[in-house]
Amino acid sequence: FDAPFRLGGHELYLSASVGISVFPNDGVSVGDLLRNADTAMYRAKALGRGQFHFYTPEMTRDAQEKIQIESLLRRALDNGELSVHLQPQVEARGGRLVGAEALIRWDSPELGSVPPARFIPLAEESGTIIALGTWVLRETCRQVMKWTASGFELPQVSVNLSVKQLERPEFVETLQAILEETGIEPGRLKLEITESVVMAVDDAFTLLDRLRKIGISLALDDFGTGYSSLSYLKMLPVQQLKIDRSFVIGIGQNPEDEAIIRSVMALAQSLNFEVVAEGVETAEQAAFLSASGCHQLQGFLHGSAVAPAEFRARWSSLPRGAALPGVCSAGNCVQANSACCWPHWWLPWRRLRPSAFSLTVSAWRWNRRRNNCLAATCC
Ligand code: C2E
Ligand code: CA
Ligand code: CA
Repeated sequence: FDAPFRLGGHELYLSASVGISVFPNDGVSVGDLLRNADTAMYRAKALGRGQFHFYTPEMTRDAQEKIQIESLLRRALDNGELSVHLQPQVEARGGRLVGAEALIRWDSPELGSVPPARFIPLAEESGTIIALGTWVLRETCRQVMKWTASGFELPQVSVNLSVKQLERPEFVETLQAILEETGIEPGRLKLEITESVVMAVDDAFTLLDRLRKIGISLALDDFGTGYSSLSYLKMLPVQQLKIDRSFVIGIGQNPEDEAIIRSVMALAQSLNFEVVAEGVETAEQAAFLSASGCHQLQGFLHGSAVAPAEFRARWSSLPRGAALPGVCSAGNCVQANSACCWPHWWLPWRRLRPSAFSLTVSAWRWNRRRNNCLAATCC
């Protein structure tokens, strides 16, 4: 099949993907054998076409699970099983809260808590992502404005966008309707798109330009994992690059990752992009990023994505402009000993013992008040 077929002056290339089922292990009737060979053929296609694949019982289990998730997800929106959690984004030098990323959560009565990495690709495949993505946008803007009305001002909020949403001709109109309906200022909304999304959408430049003209901010998510060329990048109307977690993990362990981070910083500086690092888990990573010129940090060091009530309780208790727990103004604090500060060794412990941790935090807050801690200067 490597050579083309000639048809009416055209050259046509064909490829064959083959699925194989074997009697009697994979079925004793013709119907069962054909059905299972078909399942194996789809796996062969998914692995890159032009291949063959033998049937295994896991394939049927996977396919059944996929169908189950897809049908439960369609109901989930109407049943109120979905929610939006928020993860803080803080200034790398100074630790002030500058924004939050909205991340969808699905609490299914049948499946328990399903991670987005499991259901978002299926929602994209089935088209449910359109309703789901619109819901996340509306719910996030509504939440931010509800906070504003009650005195808690989140400077900016980021929402993830799927390629399927951007491909819809009515996307910009839907977005504008949400902005009007919720009253959020366009500048307070940031949309996160990945490099692959930009490459996949026809005429992405025109579309992103329209969003920019409305006043919405744009961030390039998972930066460094895609294939966008530098000339392409220069022309994109995005303001922010989000360094992918896979590079942040390497800080202090992998000199190549550190070199990539430094290069991204230099590139961002010369092309005038703001940089956010994601997946920041340790004080060492925060210190390196801050020293390299990274503007904002996001990761478990400053908090994971939590429900809106918890987010507000944690972040509104600090006086406006004060440095936040877990960060110090120099960004290189490994150990904190002042009563005003948030000891870094609490962070791993927090994940192990959440209930004991919340009691300790209450005591810490009380102690801060007693010590008149207004700014957390931990170094
Ligand atoms: P993402 O946009 O790259 O989001 C960051 C993911 O990293 C989130 O996972 C977040 O919880 C996780 N994360 C943040 N800080 C840390 C850290 O310090 N360490 C570690 N290990 N992980 C960290 P999550 O919430 O499971 O979301 C996974 C992906 O699902 C997102 O990746 C995004 O691609 C997609 N997603 C989530 N919500 C939405 C949504 O509303 N719409 C769309 N289209 N996609 C979404
Ligand atoms: Ca994101
Ligand atoms: Ca990301």
